Amino acid sequence: MHIHDVIIIGGGPCGLAIASRLREHTPSATFTDDEHQRYHWIRKHGQKMNIKNYRSGADYNPKFLHKPHAKDGLDMLVIDAEGAKWMTRWNRLFKTFSITHLRSPMFFHVDPADRDALLAYTHENCRQCELQELPGCVGKEMSKHRKKQRRKGSGRISQSGPDIDERDRHDYFTPSSSLFDAHCSKIVDRYQLYEGMIRHDAVLNIEYTSVSSFDECEVGSDISNCSSPDDESAFRLTTRDGVYFARIVVLAVGPGNAPSIPSIPGLLQHTLYLGHCHAMQLNDFPSPSVKNKIAKRASTNILIVGGGLTSIQLADLALKRGVTKVWLLMRGPLKVKYFDIDLDWVGKFRNVNQASFWSADTDEERLEMFLQARNGGSITPRYRKILDKHIASGKIVLHTHTTLKSVQWVPDTHIWTSVVSSPSVSFPEMDYIVFATGVQSDIRTLPFLQKFQKEHPIDCVGSLPCLNDDLMWNDDVPLFVTGRLAGLRLGPGAPNLVGARVGAERIAWNISDILENRKEKNSVGKGVEGYEKEALTQYASGRRNRFDSLIDGH
Ligand SMILES: Cc1cc2nc3c(=O)[nH]c(=O)nc-3n(C[C@H](O)[C@H](O)[C@H](O)COP(=O)(O)OP(=O)(O)OC[C@H]3O[C@@H](n4cnc5c(N)ncnc54)[C@H](O)[C@@H]3O)c2cc1C
Repeated sequence: MHIHDVIIIGGGPCGLAIASRLREHTPSATFTDDEHQRYHWIRKHGQKMNIKNYRSGADYNPKFLHKPHAKDGLDMLVIDAEGAKWMTRWNRLFKTFSITHLRSPMFFHVDPADRDALLAYTHENCRQCELQELPGCVGKEMSKHRKKQRRKGSGRISQSGPDIDERDRHDYFTPSSSLFDAHCSKIVDRYQLYEGMIRHDAVLNIEYTSVSSFDECEVGSDISNCSSPDDESAFRLTTRDGVYFARIVVLAVGPGNAPSIPSIPGLLQHTLYLGHCHAMQLNDFPSPSVKNKIAKRASTNILIVGGGLTSIQLADLALKRGVTKVWLLMRGPLKVKYFDIDLDWVGKFRNVNQASFWSADTDEERLEMFLQARNGGSITPRYRKILDKHIASGKIVLHTHTTLKSVQWVPDTHIWTSVVSSPSVSFPEMDYIVFATGVQSDIRTLPFLQKFQKEHPIDCVGSLPCLNDDLMWNDDVPLFVTGRLAGLRLGPGAPNLVGARVGAERIAWNISDILENRKEKNSVGKGVEGYEKEALTQYASGRRNRFDSLIDGH
C-alpha cells in the first residue's frame, strides 16, 4: 500500500491552482499585489518572514533554506471524474456552449506566480487581439470633486456606478477561451503537471482512519512502501476503480453535487437527453432530434429555463445553429452584471468588502454577504445587447417572473405539448427543453462525504461547511476544501477563478506546514542524527523556544 502526500479531488481550475501552487517556490510574488492574500498570510505566517541581511541587503529565510524543493519532494496525485486531463469539464462546457470569451477579468486566473500572469502571457505572445474590452466598466468613476458637489446638492453621496481606477483599465478585458486555455497549458508545462499525475476516476467514499487498518493496494499499483507509523491517520479514498491512500486530501470538486432538474409534472426519466436535459449534461446542442428537424427545414421551438448567462448563451447558439425560435423562462427578473459577483468585490474597494467579510462575527453574516454579492444568475451587458436584438427580431420570447408548472411528452412525435407556466403563457409545442438552472451545491448531500460527515461532523451555514481558517475540515482532519464549497472562508469569489487562486495560496502554506511537522515528528526517536536535525530545524524555523533548541541540540 502506498500513501501519497496529497491527493487532489478535481482537475478543474481549483485543482490546477492547488497543484501548481504546491510546486511554486517563490509565491510571494502574489502577495505584493493582493492585499487579501497578504492579510491571511501575515496573520498566519508573519513570523516566518524573510530576514534581510543588513550588510548585503539580501533576503533569506532560514526555514526555506532547509526545505526541499516542493517539486522534488511532494508526492501528489489528482483524481477527476470527467477525464485524465486538466480542465476536462471546463473545456467540455466551453466547447458545448461555444463560449468564445471568459466572463471574468484578466486577474482571474490560476497562475500562482504572479497576479498579472495572464496579462503578461497575452503580451508576451502578442495575443492582445484576443482580449475583449468590458465596455463601460472602467472610466465612469466619479471624481472626488463631483462627489463633493453632489453631496452639497442632495445631502448624500451617490453610490451608483462602478468604482474602478482608470489605471486598472488593462485588467478589465476578458480573455478568449483559447488564450485562457493556452495560459493554463503554460502553467501545466512550467510546473510539470503532466497528465500522468491525473487519474480519470470518481471518488465514491472518503475515510480518515488509522494507517494500521489499510491492507489494500492502490489502483494499478503493487507498491507497498508504506513508511507511516501504524498510529498515524491517513485517508482512504474508495473510487469507481479501486482505492487510493493519502495523508492530505484537497476537495476541489466545484459545486460537488450533480446538476438537478426541478421536479416538474410531466418530465419523465426516459425523456432525459431525448426531450430534456440540464445544461451541464449537454454534450451535443441542439439535440440530434432537433438537428434532424432543422436539416429537413422544419420549424423548431426550444424552451430554456433559467436566468443566468448560460441560458442566453444557449439561446443565441440555438438560433445560430438553425433553431427557429427560443422561449426563455426566468423565475425572477433579468439581471445584468459584468461578473458573477458585484463590481464592489472586484474593483477598487474590494479590500474593504473582503475585510468586512473576514471580520464578520458569524458565518451567518458571511453567508448573507456571499449571497448578496452573487445574487443568483445574471447576464453580461454584451449578452444583454444580443438578447435585445433577438427579442426585437422575434426569435427569442422572454418571460421573466415566470415558472414552469407542467409539461406533457408525446412519445410518437417526440415533442412537448401542453406546456403550462405560472403566470400562464401561450406556448407552442416544444421540441426540446433545457434547464440552465445551475447546480444546487450542498456539502451535506455530497454522496462521497456521507459516511465521512457522520464520523467527522461539521457545522454548516446554508449549504456550506464552517471550515477552519486554514480551509481545513477541522484542526485534526487535514481535508482541505477550496472553490465554491469554501465560500464561507474565501468570500463571494470562491466559485470563480479568483477563488481558485486565493484558496490555493492559503491551502498550500498549510499543506507544507503539515508535511513538515510530520517529518519533524518522525525524525524524533531516530537516533542522534534525527534528533539533531529536528533541533536544528526548530532553531532555524524559529518555532517554540529558540534557546531550548540551542541547549538540546548543541
Ligand atoms: C459555462 C461556464 C463558464 C464559466 N466562466 C467563468 C469565467 O469566465 N470566469 C470565472 O471566474 N468563472 C467562470 N465559471 C465558473 C467556473 O465554474 C469556475 O470558475 C471554475 O470552473 C471553478 O473551478 P472548480 O475547479 O472549482 O470546479 P470545476 O471546474 O467544476 O471542476 C471540478 C472538477 O471536480 C471533478 N469532480 C467532482 N466530483 C468528483 C468526484 N467525486 N471524484 C472525482 N472528481 C470529481 C469534476 O469532474 C470536475 O472536473 C464558469 C462556469 C461555467 C459553467
